[in-house]
Amino acid sequence: MNIIVQKFGGTSVATPEARGQVIQKILKAKKEGKSPVVVVSAMGRVPSPYATDTLLQFVKDEAGEIKDREYDLLLSCGEIISAVTIATMLQAAGYDAVALTGGQSGIITDGVHKSADLLYGKSDALVGYVEKDIIPVVAGFQGMTVEGEITTLGRGGSDTTAAMLGGLVGAESIEIYTDVDGIMTADPRVSECASIIPAITYNEIFQMADSGAKVIHPRAVEYAMRANIPLIIKNTFSDEPGTAIVQSVKKSYPSQTVKLITGVAHRLNRIQFKITEKLDADCDLLECMAKEHISIDLINIFPEYNVFTIDGEDKNKLEAILKKDGYEYTMVEDCCKVTVIGERMTGVPGVMSRIMKALNKEGIQVLQTADSLTTIGCLIRSEQVSRAVTALLLEFNI
Ligand code: ADP
Ligand code: ASP
Ligand code: MG
Repeated sequence: MNIIVQKFGGTSVATPEARGQVIQKILKAKKEGKSPVVVVSAMGRVPSPYATDTLLQFVKDEAGEIKDREYDLLLSCGEIISAVTIATMLQAAGYDAVALTGGQSGIITDGVHKSADLLYGKSDALVGYVEKDIIPVVAGFQGMTVEGEITTLGRGGSDTTAAMLGGLVGAESIEIYTDVDGIMTADPRVSECASIIPAITYNEIFQMADSGAKVIHPRAVEYAMRANIPLIIKNTFSDEPGTAIVQSVKKSYPSQTVKLITGVAHRLNRIQFKITEKLDADCDLLECMAKEHISIDLINIFPEYNVFTIDGEDKNKLEAILKKDGYEYTMVEDCCKVTVIGERMTGVPGVMSRIMKALNKEGIQVLQTADSLTTIGCLIRSEQVSRAVTALLLEFNI
């Protein structure tokens, strides 16, 4: 059936002109003999009237804090509005199309509101439409529980919908359309030196996405990798070839120059806490944090003191625990974690030294570090993020 999944993000459906481009991309795929399954995000960003954060703000201002179940029900509406609009535009252009919620498209999830995961998928509805030459336009970012409750898949989750559906229907590829020409060596909003990466492995883009590169959701990468379906990141507003995400760049793109470091990602809104007490066997601080769902980003435990970094969103929850249990602590707010990613750095000596030299030369103080086989992360102050990312891109010649 030559099914391809085409996912269009918030900026791609934000204006009438953008939606016109979306229709062109769908019809081009059809003309090439493909059967598109379309996934759409909510329209635009705040203050667009149907953007996810606009909906959220509206109810918060009107009525106060929203419970998780109602949060999901509300947020699912943004994507449904987009799906109905794009399906109606296709119908107006003379094509058969149908708008579907995530549940109607076959995504059955667990009941974890705000961050649901696929329980199982049902492909019959989508395959049925495609066989009848009807274009399904699916509302991204959402699913349905067995009991019929609406769930959402976590912020940025329309990418995840595309990858889930791609696996479900055995798509030949999954195209993620956004507002940049592909995956770049860093966020172009942060460094003008960022450049397009023609091809990247699932593993590296997973690490980049997991370290904050918003261009794709890490869970989408996981799903596509598990199903072994190529993911392609493209620009709705250009005809550039985009970035292919594959198992092995060497095999699929032998002419691409292989570099030690592939990219630099950053994650804002970190807070570093220093606890001037021992975390010994009797200490239940980490357990209390886990119970409150406070995830620790970086952590270093020493005999005399402990340093760890959390998401700024969790600040109030953590301070409440620390105050209740009488811990002495200091914190550095408004930090950013900058992460260097490269599959080939494993076992290569000197990468850390080059990172420290490049940052020191710019007068950037490193507050904490963490490393894995293929990543090195440095916590710095947020106002230095652009200079830090640029310095690292130049140091590693990417
Ligand atoms: P969409 O609404 O299409 O899902 P997002 O805003 O979620 O779009 O993701 C696209 C944005 O991701 C780009 O505008 C860019 O600023 C940002 N971004 C962050 N890191 C990267 C990167 N390494 N390469 C490309 N874009 C990136
Ligand atoms: N609209 C949702 C969000 O803003 C999902 C997405 O755009 O992928 O997080
Ligand atoms: Mg996105």
